[in-house]
Amino acid sequence: MTAHILDGKAFAAKLRTQVATHVARLKADHGIVPGLAVVLVGDDPASQVYVRSKGKMTVEVGMQSFEHRLPDTTSEADLLALIAQLNADPAVHGILVQLPLPAGLNSDLVINTIDPAKDVDGFHISNVGLLGTGQKAMVPCTPLGCLMLLRDHHGSLAGKHAVVIGRSNIVGKPMAQLLLGDSCTVTIAHSRTADLAGLVRQADIVVAAVGRAQMVPGAWIKPGATVIDVGINRIAADDCGTRLVGDVDFDSCATVAGAITPVPGGVGPMTIACLLANTVTACSRANGLAEPEGLTV
Ligand code: NAP
Repeated sequence: MTAHILDGKAFAAKLRTQVATHVARLKADHGIVPGLAVVLVGDDPASQVYVRSKGKMTVEVGMQSFEHRLPDTTSEADLLALIAQLNADPAVHGILVQLPLPAGLNSDLVINTIDPAKDVDGFHISNVGLLGTGQKAMVPCTPLGCLMLLRDHHGSLAGKHAVVIGRSNIVGKPMAQLLLGDSCTVTIAHSRTADLAGLVRQADIVVAAVGRAQMVPGAWIKPGATVIDVGINRIAADDCGTRLVGDVDFDSCATVAGAITPVPGGVGPMTIACLLANTVTACSRANGLAEPEGLTV
């Protein structure tokens, strides 16, 4: 079997077009321009790349982008004061604090200081609770992107057995909640799980969010299963440079799976597209307007 490739790059481009349409409508009908503020503390190179690309795509869909770059010597009090200022700013509908924060800054405190209605990353404890209890929440971008790809491919996910490998607060746990919300039977695996291979072999849907390059081999995959690879790992390439790979071994998995996301070009592009989607959703909610369809769960 050769798996169908779930093209996250193409899907994300479509989603950004949908976002741009809603942004144009908000402007034309209500004179509102959605705004996304991104806060970067320190000079982590990967974070700088992410922040630049978030800012560029925000502007491309017609929204306002506010970038706040702070030195890694920034005190917690100053960072919290900036967040309070963004919470109060009516031009800002979404706030994202780029993680990880430099040592010495308490991420939980910082994230929980963001107004939950502007928490477009969906990491605030209120949004975590809302998602866990099946209420309207801001949904974390990466799992939201995975769910959109799965729904697009399968239609209904009801009754499917999903195994999520990884239990992080930003991917594994919210992913499991979303799949449960779509009536999957969900198993969450982690580094202490016994017989991971045996468990994954039972899955109709496998979501790998581990951070270990090519850890899941094709031999673990049930024939025809759908494989969502969240991992982003840089490894040495044959030409002495480096290349990006996921948490699953794409070549062997693609011969067994029914459908699979590539790395790059799978889940990665969906994350930023969902961030933009969440900002439009937050803006619509803040202004008491009908929520655009298809941009959240
Ligand atoms: P994380 O916080 O490090 O969590 C990794 C999870 O994997 C943990 O729950 C850990 O278990 C589990 N794990 C580690 N080794 C394992 C093993 N041998 N067997 C089974 N489980 C194991 O990572 P994360 O933030 O969730 O990210 C996961 C991956 O997704 C990374 O590659 C990251 O770069 C990528 N990512 C991609 C995007 C995107 O936009 N595509 C967004 C976010 C993250 P324990 O809890 O027991 O330690």
